[in-house]
Amino acid sequence: MPIYEYEATSPGRSCKKCAATFEVLQRLSDPPLNSCPACGQGIKRKISRSRVILPGSARGRNEVEQKVAEYERQGMYSHAAELADKESEKPEKTYLKERAIDDYRKAGYEF
Ligand SMILES: [Zn+2]
Repeated sequence: MPIYEYEATSPGRSCKKCAATFEVLQRLSDPPLNSCPACGQGIKRKISRSRVILPGSARGRNEVEQKVAEYERQGMYSHAAELADKESEKPEKTYLKERAIDDYRKAGYEF
């Protein structure tokens, strides 16, 4: 699972936990948090610093999905779709086909 970094949206009102950047371990499919688990103040995810900590064989799969998720977060759905679509041609990654279609739809393509 990747670790995401969060920071307070209004640092003046943050607690000890969210006063500085803090890390949260999340599944790729989890929605981003929008409030601090300690004090409830607004927080936002820092996109650029997220990283993958899965070892060995799971890494390759995760890096591709991470990249797809990154494109999705940035609203680059056609990029996300193309990457997922290409990857889904591999027998062990057919589950990405649905995601590719979903991203193609978001990018404005019709099926
Ligand atoms: Zn807090």
